[in-house]
Amino acid sequence: MNCEICGKPIFGKPITIEVDGAYLKVCEECAKYGKIVNERKNNEAKVSGIVRPTKNQVEEEYELIDGYGRIIKEIREKMNLTQEQLGRKIGIKPSLLAKIEQEKIIPDYPTLRKIEYSLKVKLRK
Ligand SMILES: [Zn+2]
Repeated sequence: MNCEICGKPIFGKPITIEVDGAYLKVCEECAKYGKIVNERKNNEAKVSGIVRPTKNQVEEEYELIDGYGRIIKEIREKMNLTQEQLGRKIGIKPSLLAKIEQEKIIPDYPTLRKIEYSLKVKLRK
């Protein structure tokens, strides 16, 4: 291939440089006209970019077991905890916990994990 700046054929691996936000593949001589881009680092950034959403997806993909609200309520009562006490323990409002127990809302993942941890119960399928 030819250098994108001087047009001379490039022998060996072209050097990728950044000039005003544009990426150019250039010869060794023209590399001084821009910032040399480390291609390997670029690829690594792309890979981790793919990994991140996958991780989020796993955390968000959960299905609650049937009757999760009733189970939370039963275990909480067995442990002699009021909605306020358990709510304080896991850092949510008692009114929010009440809605979770009534299955009016589905707890978000961190809240769910805290409930599971506090009550020593698994609420996901
Ligand atoms: Zn050149």
